[in-house]
Amino acid sequence: AGDAILRRQRIRESAARTYARSFPIVPVRANGMTVEGADGRRYLDCLSGAGTLVLGHNHPVVLEAIRRTLDGGAPLHLLDIATAEKDDFTTALFEALPPAFAARARVHFCGPAGTDAVEAALKLMQTATGRSGALAFTGAYHGMTAGALAVTGSVAVKAPLPGGGEVTRLPYPYPYRCPFGVGGERGAELSAAYTERLLDDPAGGVTAPAAMILEAVQGEGGVVPAPDDWLRTMRRITADRGIPLIVDEVQTGVGRTGAMWAVEHSGIEPDAMVLSKAIGGSLPLAAVVYREDYDGWRPGAHTGTFRGNTLAMAAGAATLRYVAAQGLVERSRTVGARMAARLAGLQGHLPVIGDVRGRGLMLGVELVDPAGTPDSCGALPADPALAVRVREACLQRGLIVELGGRHGAVLRLLPPLTITDEQADAVLDQLADAVEAAAR
Ligand code: PMP
Repeated sequence: AGDAILRRQRIRESAARTYARSFPIVPVRANGMTVEGADGRRYLDCLSGAGTLVLGHNHPVVLEAIRRTLDGGAPLHLLDIATAEKDDFTTALFEALPPAFAARARVHFCGPAGTDAVEAALKLMQTATGRSGALAFTGAYHGMTAGALAVTGSVAVKAPLPGGGEVTRLPYPYPYRCPFGVGGERGAELSAAYTERLLDDPAGGVTAPAAMILEAVQGEGGVVPAPDDWLRTMRRITADRGIPLIVDEVQTGVGRTGAMWAVEHSGIEPDAMVLSKAIGGSLPLAAVVYREDYDGWRPGAHTGTFRGNTLAMAAGAATLRYVAAQGLVERSRTVGARMAARLAGLQGHLPVIGDVRGRGLMLGVELVDPAGTPDSCGALPADPALAVRVREACLQRGLIVELGGRHGAVLRLLPPLTITDEQADAVLDQLADAVEAAAR
């Protein structure tokens, strides 16, 4: 049955299929970290729906919340009309947010994907500041939408600022492959200094933007954690110049990095946080949370059909509360640190591992060509072909691992926060074996 499904998919579905190509399996059941294919094979899932499934697949607490909502007969779809489920989710969310931020925050529920929440955050800040354009970073990933507002006709909806304006791309600190050609902390210092000087240079070509947007740990960009000092400097630079700071926590949120939110590591308080993935407890849900003084939208200024799905709200509230009650944030930190230490050990005897990095259970392993010429930071050339072979070798051994990074040469581990010590060991055993086999 699995083969027939794969064959039909190849014929009928879009050429843009991605995960389906990397993982030609047909899952029929999933539980926790385990996915079972139609062929009866079992896989440990380190992809977790691109980091969505912080409680793993079909967690009983999530299933129970969904069943309870269905059995209670609540309306499943109501646009942005008030419901008890939405009220409960909002309460759970505000309880989970950093307290100082939550005390003066507002939430806007968006279309169901992370990209919708990014659009909303950028547009909100355009409205609030009366400016356009954004400061963004090399290696950033924020979504795939473009153009829907541009082709919308209603002038009222497009007002006040059609289009997004200019984007100024700034260097993200990436210690292993520093954009300035020097590694480590010094690279991050240069990145911060460059940003500040560019903004203050009257001939720098940057007009006051509506916002700065960044990920505290870049995910798709190759699991690159920004140093805390750099984040604090970005907060200061934007605050000094009246530029709202939007932190995209779509992938880092809900305990993923060993803090409930990645901003908590550095202690910075953003002006807005973009949320999706895990907040819906494996169902589609997205929101932008922002400081109340930016709440300048008139009613209807930013709408959308799917703003808050009742089942996603119920699953999300259950997830947020379970993560907090079970100490899973702490667990993400400790298991993540153990896994990172073992990966660093592997790096010692596998020269194709150029760099190991991450925070909590958001881990990255950059694969390189040891025979290549090191750059001025000492980084070896990325080896995307090896990474593809490793991903394949992992799958053969029963491990689902996705790639990312600028060159597609970073193995990204995003296991559920509920991962057991035994599962963590099994992941690393299989990964080590796969890297060794693929590098041979
Ligand atoms: N921001 C970040 C940091 C992400 O990692 C992603 C998705 N990987 C998005 C935004 C976009 O989310 P979505 O795919 O749900 O649109």
